[in-house]
Amino acid sequence: MKIVDLFELVRLSRRLQKRPCPICRSEAGRPLLRYDRYLLPSNIKECERCGLIYCANMLSPPELERFYTSLYSALMDFKATEAQIATYQSVARERVTKISARLGHLDQLLEIGAGYGYFLAAARQAGARHLYGIEPSTSGVRHAQTSLHLGDQIVEAPFLEASPPPFAPQVTVLFHVLEHLVDPGAALDRLAAWIPEGASLVIEVPDTAADWSSMGLINFHISHASYFRAETLTDLLHRHGFAPFEVEREADGIYPGNLRVYARRDSSFSEIRPFLAPPSLASHVADLVKPWSLKNGYPRAVLRLLRHLARG
Ligand SMILES: [Zn+2]
Repeated sequence: MKIVDLFELVRLSRRLQKRPCPICRSEAGRPLLRYDRYLLPSNIKECERCGLIYCANMLSPPELERFYTSLYSALMDFKATEAQIATYQSVARERVTKISARLGHLDQLLEIGAGYGYFLAAARQAGARHLYGIEPSTSGVRHAQTSLHLGDQIVEAPFLEASPPPFAPQVTVLFHVLEHLVDPGAALDRLAAWIPEGASLVIEVPDTAADWSSMGLINFHISHASYFRAETLTDLLHRHGFAPFEVEREADGIYPGNLRVYARRDSSFSEIRPFLAPPSLASHVADLVKPWSLKNGYPRAVLRLLRHLARG
């Protein structure tokens, strides 16, 4: 991260725009946290109508795209070290094992937000022949194509602009993608048009209802536009043409508190259902975020930024 990135962060803080709940469009919400870990005034709220926790101040789509192509990797400090690659590979193998235990042999597999391609490569290793990944980052696609030899089985495109896969996907996966999208319902509508009736969808997100106390404030940042829990994610699936049938919770996935929901495409499910907010997580969040903690509060957030800056 360079000093120019810090100026960019300050510039972004002035570009945030107020928005309603991305699921139910209500503006009524309980404020949980004004500033996120980048000290951006993201105004994290819990919707009173549907229960979703979300950033009520968000970047416009072009600003968000600019953020992902410029500042995001500087802030996340991605480095393809041997240790990190070994972790990616082992997480990918574990996902293939767990998901095929539920759904059977994986094939005609579509991954949205395929990252560096490790899951697709692990599925290929397990015998999948028809694979397709969509990934917005140039570095991810380049790595998947050159180091993992995925060739034209992965394409570089923002999901909402991508072409459909060259086959009818039987299994579609999104690992820690949905929480990044400004309009997750629109993404599910697009998937519903691609996924045949009865085929499977597997979604992983951080579980806001879990114990993520080790992360504290660090859990909240502008790139996570929504903070799901089992109730809000399964409800969203119901509204957009999917029937959830299994919820798995892991204490330690790639996140402390990993939520994996399995659903099937079912066109009889639709948006027409009343919103019913689950019990509030406001006190849970207040218990886990210690704003002035040196370990994971604002002082740590400032130190992280300074450390990124020092590394250049
Ligand atoms: Zn809502």
